[in-house]
Amino acid sequence: MPTRATKRGALRTRLSADCDVLICGASFAGLAVARELAGTGAEVMLIDRYEIGERQTSACGIPTLWLQALELLPALQQTFGQLVIHTRHATVRYDLPWTFSTFDYRTLCSLFAEQGRFEFETAKVDGRTGFTVHTDRGDVRAPLIVDALGWRRVLGTGKNIQPPDALLSRGLEVHPHGGGQELEVWIDRRYVPAGYGWSFPADGEVRIGVGSFDPRFHVREPTVRLAGDLGADTVRYQGNWIPHALRDATEDGIFFAGDSAGHCLPLTAEGIRTAIYFGLACGRELRAVLGGSQTREEALARYHAFSASHALPFRWMLRLQRLIPRVPPRLLGASLRAIDHQRFIHWAFGHYLNVAHPDFVRPRVPVSDAALTTTVRA
Ligand SMILES: Cc1cc2nc3c(=O)[nH]c(=O)nc-3n(C[C@H](O)[C@H](O)[C@H](O)COP(=O)(O)OP(=O)(O)OC[C@H]3O[C@@H](n4cnc5c(N)ncnc54)[C@H](O)[C@@H]3O)c2cc1C
Repeated sequence: MPTRATKRGALRTRLSADCDVLICGASFAGLAVARELAGTGAEVMLIDRYEIGERQTSACGIPTLWLQALELLPALQQTFGQLVIHTRHATVRYDLPWTFSTFDYRTLCSLFAEQGRFEFETAKVDGRTGFTVHTDRGDVRAPLIVDALGWRRVLGTGKNIQPPDALLSRGLEVHPHGGGQELEVWIDRRYVPAGYGWSFPADGEVRIGVGSFDPRFHVREPTVRLAGDLGADTVRYQGNWIPHALRDATEDGIFFAGDSAGHCLPLTAEGIRTAIYFGLACGRELRAVLGGSQTREEALARYHAFSASHALPFRWMLRLQRLIPRVPPRLLGASLRAIDHQRFIHWAFGHYLNVAHPDFVRPRVPVSDAALTTTVRA
C-alpha cells in the first residue's frame, strides 16, 4: 500500500493566510509557475491536496530536450530514439529527430520544486470568492491567483462542464514491473475506436494504457486487454480525464495553466511539456507584476493573448484527432508507411515540437537571489 504523506487528522491545522501569489496545484503547471517566481522575494504559496510528487498524474513521457532545458535530467528513466506505431495491418518505426524520455514523477517534482521558493500547504481547493480561495482547511487570499489544478478548472466561474459533454478524453494505465526498449503506440480499433494505446517502459516498470478521445468510451477493459496481450500484470492503476481543447487562459482575474486551460495537445494527449510551457509563460507575466513593470490587468491580457495565439496548431491537431478514426484501417496502415520518409518525419515532428519548444526555457534565477517585491497593482 502506498504511504500517504499528506497531513491527516490533528496535523491538519486551520489555514488562513495572505500572500502575494497563490498557486493552486503542485504538478507540472504549478511548479513551472513557481520556478519563474524564484528570486522575486514575493510571498508565494503553493497548495495541493497531496504532497508534491505523491500522486503521479501521467505516463511521464516528455521530449528529452525539455528535461535537459529544465535541468531535470536526474529524473530521466529511459530514452527512445524511435516511435513504434502498430495498426491492425501494419507496424511502422519512425526515427525521431529528437528523443522522447520517460521520467520518475516523484523525483522530477521534487527537483522542480527546489527551483522555486514558496511555502507549501496540503489542502483541497473547493472554490473561490473574488481573490479569496476556499480550501478544506480555511481561506487564502492573494491578488495573483493561478489555477493549475487540472481539468476540473476548480477556480473558473459558473458551472463547469462535466464529462461526457465536455471536450475531454479519458486515459487509464497500469504500471506493472517489467522492461522494454521501445516506445510503442497502438492505433487499433480493436482497443479503442478513437484514440490509442501505449506502452512506455520506465526503468523497471512499464506504463501501459489506453486513451479514448470519445469520453463515452470506457477504457478499463481495453487497458486490461492490452496489458494482457503484452503479458503484463494489471496493477497500480492511474487514470484521469484529459482536456483536448484550449480554454480561456484567464477568467475573472484568475490565471489558468496546464489542463485547467486545456493546454494538453489534442492529437496525442501530450500535456506535460505544454503545462510547463504555459506555466512558465504565466510565471513570467506574474514576475513582471511583482517587479512593478506591469499591472495585474496587463498581465492577464498578455497571458490570455499568448495562450490564445496557439489556437491554430491546437485546432489542426483536433481536426487530425477526429480524422484518424475515420480512415479505414488498411488505408491508415498504408498511409503511415507512406509517410515514413526521413525528411517528412523531421518536418512533422519538428512542427510538433515547435508548438511548445524547449528553447522557451530561460536559465533559472538562483533561489537565494532575493529581490524586493512591490505592491501588486490591479
Ligand atoms: C493515463 C494518462 C497518461 C498520460 N501520459 C502522458 C504522458 O506520458 N506525457 C504527457 O505529456 N502527458 C500525459 N498525460 C497528460 C498529462 O498527464 C496532463 O496533461 C498533465 O498532467 C497536465 O499537468 P497539470 O499540471 O496541468 O495538471 P495535473 O498534472 O493533473 O496536476 C493537477 C494538480 O492539482 C491537484 N489538484 C487537483 N484538484 C485539486 C483540488 N481540488 N485541490 C487541491 N489540489 C488539487 C492534483 O493533486 C495535482 O497535483 C497523460 C494523462 C493520463 C490521464
